[in-house]
Amino acid sequence: MTDQMYIKTNVTNVPNERGYYGEFGGRFVPETIIPALDELEEAYAEAMADPEFHQELAYLQRTYTGRPTPITHAKRLSEYLGGAQIYLKREDLAHTGAHKINNALGQGLLAKRMGKKRIIAETGAGQHGVGTATAMALLGLDCHVYMGSVDIARQQPNVFRMKLLGANVIPVESGSKTLKDAINEAMRDWVTNVETTFYLLGSALGPHPYPMIVRDFQSVIGTEAREQIQEMTGRLPDVCMACVGGGSNAIGLFHAFRDDEDVELIGIEAGGHGIESGEHASRFSDFDISRPGILHGTRSYVMQNSDGQIMETHSVSAGLDYPSVGPEHAHLRSLERAFYTMATDEEALEAFQKLSKLEGIIPALESSHAVAEVIKRAPKMPKDSVILVNLSGRGDKDLDTVIGILGQ
Ligand SMILES: *Cc1c(COP(=O)(O)O)cnc(C)c1O
Repeated sequence: MTDQMYIKTNVTNVPNERGYYGEFGGRFVPETIIPALDELEEAYAEAMADPEFHQELAYLQRTYTGRPTPITHAKRLSEYLGGAQIYLKREDLAHTGAHKINNALGQGLLAKRMGKKRIIAETGAGQHGVGTATAMALLGLDCHVYMGSVDIARQQPNVFRMKLLGANVIPVESGSKTLKDAINEAMRDWVTNVETTFYLLGSALGPHPYPMIVRDFQSVIGTEAREQIQEMTGRLPDVCMACVGGGSNAIGLFHAFRDDEDVELIGIEAGGHGIESGEHASRFSDFDISRPGILHGTRSYVMQNSDGQIMETHSVSAGLDYPSVGPEHAHLRSLERAFYTMATDEEALEAFQKLSKLEGIIPALESSHAVAEVIKRAPKMPKDSVILVNLSGRGDKDLDTVIGILGQ
């Protein structure tokens, strides 16, 4: 076997039966959770083998989410940058305005199939909470969302949305009263109520089989996009780009292209105030404070100090503001199948305004990080080359943040 074949096998056939992506992933959880993860893994395998499950999900994607989402040729942006042709995969047009609904509906259907009527989730800024509450309202499941009390105070509109959608929002008062404390509480709830309760995880993170399940439910993005871009341009893109928080929208796009060796895959992390400042969430750019470790049940790159204490991260976009990253991204990076870079808050804000003015599309601040990399890279590429960028969400939710910064 040549080296290249070895790499290809490893890109394609992950995770292995123990949930590893190379040296990343796995299950680092209390013993009491293992049976629940086994049960989930088994139910998921059964669902995947059942054509009825796929039909039901496809039906909801078509009639509720509004799939397939289109691809837009960003002609004016392409012209303005004077290089590559830029194509946007429009997850901002999915119901609720972002890709998170793809995963929430998939896991919701799985929970129903498993006979679990009580759904728990955690949320930071509230986007995963809103996505979950939406899908649970549709499916008629009982939804409880853990949220740090600091986040509740900061994100009132999303708290109200969740309540309107029928979810019970549970304030978390422990630790820093933010996302990581909410995750801990949700895990504790799951251990206690595992018989009746389904834990709906929001990104390609957590113990096996979650990173695989979330990837698979998000891979509809790449599967659609791969077909659409060939229809529109007659070929595969030169580059695929997506922003990387936990990594679900990026892996959802990358997965369909993993075996297309000529298609470059680029993930963009949150550079915050710049790498030198230490105030960012670039797990793959700053190896003084980021190295392999364990967080929330999986082994991946984690931002931590020399004692292994998890670092505070910063990003203008809540969705990218997380100290670890999905294990499959760590794996793709170590194989050099995917490359990772970052955009600062400032660059993202500039991209946010550029895309709004030139295309009439206000992107989410998360997605603006990917657009910022397009702005850097497209001018250096030939005019007949193609960049496919995932627009993970729309920017309406970010207007208050942007007004707060640009208003000054
Ligand atoms: C949550 C979110 C992200 C980041 O999450 P991933 O799991 O990395 O995709 C990116 N964009 C939007 C619009 C989001 O809501």
